[in-house]
Amino acid sequence: MQIAILALQGAFQEHGAALDALDASHFEIRQRKDLDRPFDGLILPGGESTVMRKLLLDLELFHPLKVRIQEGLPVFGTCAGLILLARDVEGGASCFGTMPIVARRNAYGRQLGSFHTKGEFGTYGTIPMTFIRAPYISDSDQGVEILSTVNGKAVAAQFQNQLVTAFHPELTKDCTVHAHFLQLVSNTLPQKAAC
Ligand code: GLN
Repeated sequence: MQIAILALQGAFQEHGAALDALDASHFEIRQRKDLDRPFDGLILPGGESTVMRKLLLDLELFHPLKVRIQEGLPVFGTCAGLILLARDVEGGASCFGTMPIVARRNAYGRQLGSFHTKGEFGTYGTIPMTFIRAPYISDSDQGVEILSTVNGKAVAAQFQNQLVTAFHPELTKDCTVHAHFLQLVSNTLPQKAAC
């Protein structure tokens, strides 16, 4: 299993460290030719979604990645990555738009919007959550599974092959969300025949 991490801007190195902790192979996508390497899952890190959107377009990464996601490539977006996947963005332009959610950008205010808390993630129990000028999910279509809610706001969700968190699991020592993503990736790989 090989995971590609979009490494144009933002907190991409920390995702690599989380994958190392789980013994998962990974490499960085910085330019178009990096897409020639095979990969089974993609991580879109936190950072600044408007900058990432511009770089994705300028570097001609946008279209091939969008097609791969639409074809079922497992993708995990954190914070700005959530915004890139959202179909609609309040306070900004949508990018891939492949996930039927509405993201409210900078939903907690721009400067005072960074905080730590703990919350439930799916059926895994409570995990630490770090929010940095985070969005939340203000609306979602049927079929989107809300995995975490903090103060009544949806902050983690899954839709088919797409997983998003408004918080940054890669900035904590807890690998629950990355392990969940690797499970999602592994479920899409062809099963090895038993012999
Ligand atoms: N506020 C940022 C944006 O809109 C996201 C912040 C983050 O990724 N930590 O892109």
